[in-house]
Amino acid sequence: MTNRILLSSPHMGGTEQKYIQEAFDTNWIAPLGANVDGFEKELASYVNVRGASATSSGTGAIHLALDLLGVKAGDTVFCSDLTFIASANPILYLGAEPVFIDSEETTWNMSPQALERALHESKATNTLPKAVIIVNLYGQSARMDELMALCNEYGVSVVEDAAESLGSLYNGKHSGTFGKLGVYSFNGNKIITTSGGGMLVSDDDELIARSRYLATQARDAAKHYQHSVVGYNYRMSNIVAGIGRGQLEVLDERISQKRAIFDRYEATFKDVDGITMMPELEGTFSNRWLSTMTLDAEKLKITPYELIDSLNAANIESRPVWKPLHMQPLFEECKFYPHSDARVVSEELFANGICLPSDSKMTVEEQQIVIDIILRAVK
Ligand SMILES: *Cc1c(COP(=O)(O)O)cnc(C)c1O
Repeated sequence: MTNRILLSSPHMGGTEQKYIQEAFDTNWIAPLGANVDGFEKELASYVNVRGASATSSGTGAIHLALDLLGVKAGDTVFCSDLTFIASANPILYLGAEPVFIDSEETTWNMSPQALERALHESKATNTLPKAVIIVNLYGQSARMDELMALCNEYGVSVVEDAAESLGSLYNGKHSGTFGKLGVYSFNGNKIITTSGGGMLVSDDDELIARSRYLATQARDAAKHYQHSVVGYNYRMSNIVAGIGRGQLEVLDERISQKRAIFDRYEATFKDVDGITMMPELEGTFSNRWLSTMTLDAEKLKITPYELIDSLNAANIESRPVWKPLHMQPLFEECKFYPHSDARVVSEELFANGICLPSDSKMTVEEQQIVIDIILRAVK
């Protein structure tokens, strides 16, 4: 693994161990304590939201969000199609049915026109979804104005999957704070990491309080152990939260580093006919978690898989973009709304897209090696 240039790996800031030491010194080696409380407050303040509830994973936070919105067996939940499986797995945990909504090309995220068709049809058949999960891919915000207007019009709650977009802005407002509930992830590959963990955020104090109750086995207020609803063991550990507090101190620095990496790719590849970097929608600011581009295989005579192989041969990690969920064997039976009759944008992005090394520890020299290999491969 030494010297391998990575997609995105943990990048500690230096103060993480101080917070972990405090946990040891006070013996708060548990899924509660000063680091959990501190991390929640500090993150809520960073994204400018009323409440945050720390969880053991982003997936767990999505599960809690859907449960809080009352999603149960037989319900429908709409979800972005082009995303990691973790966006949709919690729908299945609750026995509900996912319906996938295609992307549009200016953000790669949920297509408002596909969502509008899906809402219109489901209303007509009395099967409106209990929730819509909107994903902000690779740091880029979805078209939140249009998407929120539609969801409000139909009275459907939004869960924002901002696992990849912590620190990104849409018209100056933090990604993850538009829906009723928002979710962040601190998995090892994300822009900041706690090794594993997540955060549920909301401006609704009651939802946040209830999320903590559900995340700690839903114990009733009684002297004995009494439970009236299904609960989970999803609270974040106080050790892990210590890593999070240290990482939050360097989040702005990581965003600058990620954006500088993207800018260097873009400055070079803008002159290559057939390479298109992921767009940044006007009025948005992306954390550029992963630098991502599409290849025109006909013009360049190379497919993303061939390029990934060439990079791998030089000990450089790259990946295809997420495989659309409507193409997953797991979701074979699920309904899917394409962007238009003529176009399935998520399939186009999957066929042509590639995620480039975006490690914030990568040096300019290392990135130049990556760029040179790509330029040679597409010539
Ligand atoms: C990473 C990720 C998740 C899941 O977060 P975990 O903390 O790994 O459970 C959910 N959605 C998206 C889009 C992700 O990238």
